[in-house]
Amino acid sequence: MNSQREQAIVIGGSMAGLLAARVLSDHFQQVTIIERDQLPDEGVYRNGVPQSRHLHTLLVQGQRIMETMFPGFSDEMAAEGAPEVTWGIGNVFLTTGGYAQPQDSGIKSNLLARVELEWLVRKRIYQIENIRFITERDVRGLIATADGKAVIGVETESRTDHRVEQIFAQLVVDASGRGSKAPEWLQTLGYDAPPETVINAHTGYATRWYEIPADASNDWAIVIQPRPGEKLYRGGGLLVMDGNRWVVTLLGANGDYPPTDEEGFMAFAKSLPGPDIYEAIKDAKPITSIYGYRKLENRMRHYERLTRRPEGFVVTGDAACALNPIYGQGMTASAMEAEMMGKLLRRYNGRSLAGFPAAFQKDLRRVADGPWLMATSEDMRYPDVEGQRPNAVMHLMHRYLDLLAKAIPYDKKVTMAFVKGMNLLEHPSVMMHPAIVARVLLRTWQMRRNRQSGNQQYQQSLPHQAGNVSGL
Ligand SMILES: Cc1cc2nc3c(=O)[nH]c(=O)nc-3n(C[C@H](O)[C@H](O)[C@H](O)COP(=O)(O)OP(=O)(O)OC[C@H]3O[C@@H](n4cnc5c(N)ncnc54)[C@H](O)[C@@H]3O)c2cc1C
Repeated sequence: MNSQREQAIVIGGSMAGLLAARVLSDHFQQVTIIERDQLPDEGVYRNGVPQSRHLHTLLVQGQRIMETMFPGFSDEMAAEGAPEVTWGIGNVFLTTGGYAQPQDSGIKSNLLARVELEWLVRKRIYQIENIRFITERDVRGLIATADGKAVIGVETESRTDHRVEQIFAQLVVDASGRGSKAPEWLQTLGYDAPPETVINAHTGYATRWYEIPADASNDWAIVIQPRPGEKLYRGGGLLVMDGNRWVVTLLGANGDYPPTDEEGFMAFAKSLPGPDIYEAIKDAKPITSIYGYRKLENRMRHYERLTRRPEGFVVTGDAACALNPIYGQGMTASAMEAEMMGKLLRRYNGRSLAGFPAAFQKDLRRVADGPWLMATSEDMRYPDVEGQRPNAVMHLMHRYLDLLAKAIPYDKKVTMAFVKGMNLLEHPSVMMHPAIVARVLLRTWQMRRNRQSGNQQYQQSLPHQAGNVSGL
């Protein structure tokens, strides 16, 4: 630990804030997490993280990083009842290219509900002596030096007695999520707000939790992707959570939002491009009401582009880069950003943190590039997407990814590229690597040739619904 650095403050005690605090605890004598919520001593819902009622997948890269930060973390997840699953087998996956056939990728992870996952991480943080929590306190602004050149703390207001207090630190990290007020706080100090890129496919979620019926299949997931190319903007996911519940999220893009009333929810489930989710839940017993969520646009706040910025202040997690969650990347992106923060702080060991915020925001943009590319390029398939229209190259990429989805059942290397890219184990562009492109084109050609000659090999058969795959 670098003893010259006394205090760091983290605004927000959700996933990005907790993981940043873990990393900062190696470099500061004290780390203070300031959180507006009262934090429960169990894995239950709290108001500050409304999205936690919805399906959350922790990608393999995210779990890997948590395991390095908290050794034994995966075992703890398993002990909480989180089943270990293997990507590519034991699930039903209806892609734009049809049902994926099982392919054992050998890549494993555990499935735990968002609230339980946050609680497990928080419990680990409680064990770190130099991290403390201040809860039920809103951060309402930044405190700067008289010349405004550096942030030296935050102003907070208590939710219980409205007392205002100032807390000082050498580094303030904003991890307050999509609703971050950092752009306004910077303007109050005389700086520009960061430019923003917003790409909005007008996506909405409706989620309900179910008891797993006794006669349910052993599949750990059913994923039905929308097919924007066929004007089918609806999809959904069903995941086994904590080993004993199903979480079912229906999603609609292009403004085709799923309803939150009983009848509408079931009708929407029935109308998906595949019947699997509807068939699974039609007789299952719900254990919650239906929750809706609509603010799901991709929003990049370009802190890296600021030409003037104060020292002592950085922004991470959804506050810097919020992603359409359909692709399940937000927590993993936050973990990757925290890991990067640790690497960068090590480079500043033994010297002042002057220049750290600029370097951090530049590196964050680089780390967020993969998740951002994946989410925004997929969102650009929707005709009413706002923010950026797909160009000819993007159209070509969409067509290629459809072919890749169809090639997955027949080619292990293609499967591995897909699973690694999707799980952010590698940059998603791994799916466009020339060697993978060559294999996809070869498989496409083989499928066509075999279909023309009536050969059954390379004909996509369906695990649940023969004859429903869009042909090549
Ligand atoms: C519907 C939905 C589904 C999602 N599904 C997935 C998924 O499948 N996989 C995945 O990886 N990610 C998913 N995400 C994204 C994921 O939830 C976030 O990326 C992740 O929680 C990290 O966010 P964060 O910590 O930056 O912000 P948040 O989780 O939003 O947390 C912000 C925290 O800051 C606190 N706070 C806010 N303002 C203040 C203030 N002024 N003072 C003090 N405290 C404050 C809040 O109370 C909260 O605790 C989903 C998101 C949504 C909306």
